[in-house]
Amino acid sequence: MSYISLYRKWRPQNFDEIIGQKHIIQTLKNAIKANRISHAYLFCGPRGTGKTSCARILAKALNCADGSTASPCGNCGNCKKIRDGHAVDVIEIDAASNRGIDEIRDLREKVRYTPIEGKYKVYIIDEVHMLTQEAFNALLKTLEEPPAYVIFILATTEPQKVPITIASRCQRLDFARIKFAEVKEQLKKIAENEGLDIEEKALDEVARLGEGSMRDSISLLDQLISFAGNKVAFNDIMTLLGSADEEMLFSLSSSILEKDDAKTLNLLREGIDAGRSASQIAKDLINHFRNILFAKVGAADSLELTIEHQKKVEELAAKFTLNEIKTVLRGLSQAEMDMKWHPHARLVLEVSLLELIDNQKMAEQQETRLRPALPAGRQPSLRVVEIDNRIAKIKKHWPEILESIKQKSPFAFISMHEGEPLEINDKGKLVIGYKKGYAFHKDRLEEKKNKEAVEQAIKEAVGESFLVEGVVGDERITPRMSVEAVKEIFEGELI
Ligand SMILES: [Zn+2]
Repeated sequence: MSYISLYRKWRPQNFDEIIGQKHIIQTLKNAIKANRISHAYLFCGPRGTGKTSCARILAKALNCADGSTASPCGNCGNCKKIRDGHAVDVIEIDAASNRGIDEIRDLREKVRYTPIEGKYKVYIIDEVHMLTQEAFNALLKTLEEPPAYVIFILATTEPQKVPITIASRCQRLDFARIKFAEVKEQLKKIAENEGLDIEEKALDEVARLGEGSMRDSISLLDQLISFAGNKVAFNDIMTLLGSADEEMLFSLSSSILEKDDAKTLNLLREGIDAGRSASQIAKDLINHFRNILFAKVGAADSLELTIEHQKKVEELAAKFTLNEIKTVLRGLSQAEMDMKWHPHARLVLEVSLLELIDNQKMAEQQETRLRPALPAGRQPSLRVVEIDNRIAKIKKHWPEILESIKQKSPFAFISMHEGEPLEINDKGKLVIGYKKGYAFHKDRLEEKKNKEAVEQAIKEAVGESFLVEGVVGDERITPRMSVEAVKEIFEGELI
């Protein structure tokens, strides 16, 4: 017997088997019972949430030999043919495959003929937003005056791309991502019926990774069975997907928090040695810090993590400041983007992690350095505190400022990236320090256009205006990995 994928095997065959989407099922059932079926439906929603399954069930419900019914029998000739995709009156068009020109032309021809086997002719057009303008125009003509026996079910993941002329003639139903608990329950049912021995933690992970798409979760389960056989452990997922496991992510995020360069690089190396790709680790870390961010602002409940995992995330979140989390996320996102085109993805990630740690150290050192030692009992003067805060604020927002400058002027960005904010001087100017031999960058920074871009970016980030000036060879400059050094490591050019 040929192999049937789990997804096909477990595809819902009647309305009650559809997972989630309660309001949609209710609407459709009521419409059938009341004989108030719309001539055109627009099913919107993310992939794998049941749009096509629901469309086929609706076709069955309309054409079942029992007469139009909210509970199609599943056994009559019409139901079986629709299930197997052989029904002549149910025409499925995949607009994504060739953008539907021929099919829609054909549709306009054949829509005039009455159904042969059932009461209705049902057109299911998948990914309808992909149709060409020409095909849309042809479809519109038919939608304007549909014969009484024709039902259109248009499905799309991107409703905003469906022309309003089409959408306005349809009854729109929005399919939501399926809830974690519902996906998990269905997976559990499948596992039991298929005689699988699957670890609870693995089941959680398969449900989570589907991100609300039943199809993705079931396909992953299928892959896992091919890979691991009938006994599936959590680690099988890790090996299969090459993802970083929870423990490693918690260790890595803690080492970043502790600003421990060596530990961070070692953990990364261990992860890569264990067979994970650098880009997967970056992705997992981003996801992990996103969880931390949610926990920090008190929204961890919406993440649908296991109770144990959520608790750990919340504990970690308490040790970071919100700004630190945001800075790490920005740095990691940038690294992920850079890694996409770079031949040495691993190195990009390593350098980015070190830079993240450096930036945090820098901000910390600056705060300590600028706080002058005071005789016991004396309060610092208001002016010192004020300047102290100011520079600290700029340091904290430094990655954000750089990012904003990059958008405004790439040249100003390169110069600023090489510099370091040192102090607010007597004249209230922000002093940017450059290493010896980097006068070129200082000069470029001081060109009017670049200076303006920089000052604007600072104002946007910290809400205050500062004039900037550059100095070269200041002894306070922290040695760090520069773009030049990175270029040398990569044997590449800066683009
Ligand atoms: Zn039937």
